[in-house]
Amino acid sequence: MDDLTTGKRNKRGDWVPNAPLVTSPLFRLPPQLTKLPAWLPGYFLPWNVLFMVTAALFWTWFFPDVAAMADWHWSWMLHILALNLIAATLFYSALEVPLYLKRRQANRFKYNGKFPGDARNPAFWFGSQNAEGALRTLGTGVPIWTAFQCLIGWSAANGYGLTLTFAENPVYLLALGFCVPIWHEFHFYCVHRLIHMPLLYKHIHSVHHHSVNPSPWSSLSMHPVEQLLYFSSCLIHLVIPSNPIVALYGLHYAGFGAVVGHIGFDKIELTEGRGLDTHAYTHYLHHKYFEVNYGDGLMPLDKLFGSWHDGTAEGDALMEARFKAKVARTNR
Ligand SMILES: [Zn+2]
Ligand SMILES: [Zn+2]
Repeated sequence: MDDLTTGKRNKRGDWVPNAPLVTSPLFRLPPQLTKLPAWLPGYFLPWNVLFMVTAALFWTWFFPDVAAMADWHWSWMLHILALNLIAATLFYSALEVPLYLKRRQANRFKYNGKFPGDARNPAFWFGSQNAEGALRTLGTGVPIWTAFQCLIGWSAANGYGLTLTFAENPVYLLALGFCVPIWHEFHFYCVHRLIHMPLLYKHIHSVHHHSVNPSPWSSLSMHPVEQLLYFSSCLIHLVIPSNPIVALYGLHYAGFGAVVGHIGFDKIELTEGRGLDTHAYTHYLHHKYFEVNYGDGLMPLDKLFGSWHDGTAEGDALMEARFKAKVARTNR
């Protein structure tokens, strides 16, 4: 595919999309309901539907029996851990291998022209972004993700919340499923702003920001405390009326969906004429500039609090002005 019809490449080889980033029409004021029909398909497809399907499949086919999860026992927890280690490795590799190892589409639609695997970087364990990312993901990220899944399973088995069924409450549960990414965005924004406070940034969040040029294994390359906070979004399902598949969808959205924001490419080429939009540019700009786009724009929180960057020269100018005002405040 020709990536220069929808973007441009600078001298360093970095590709920038022509169209400015926009926040979703869900929360605009005044409401822009007429824009919803064009926006909704991209909200569901392909990623959200994929994670809904994986959540339903995992809960009904691959998870231990609900009755077995009523008592804490290492056997069923190890079962879920093994399942998640295999699933995460397969899903992350399904993007890492063709795009970063085989480089099937070279640097077409790639925001940063360089590939992180090409040079040693002493900021990372063994000088390798991929090695540290994979070790942190599989070593602590997936076990913490699993711990939350075990808590959901144990709670459902004991009737501690998660008692609604799709047969009896289809409309409510489908509406709740629709809201899962919105809740994730709100929770992620709050946690993310918190860990950008200087002390927490220095000791916790700086680990994730070592990846200035993120790739799939950067997604959960976080300090364990950040992983714990990140996945805690699922705890809401123990407080509000919910269902285990919807709760698991929230966790799949967080665990698998993290990769989508760190893919580093604007489009995954499928055929010569067709590609899959990743919508990764918003979070890429956060990794590039640190103090913009704490959220992904599903909710207009960055706009509201003045940290939105739409990827244009005007966005650069606004960011520069904010930075100068901050320096002036600090020096006053
Ligand atoms: Zn990130
Ligand atoms: Zn950050």
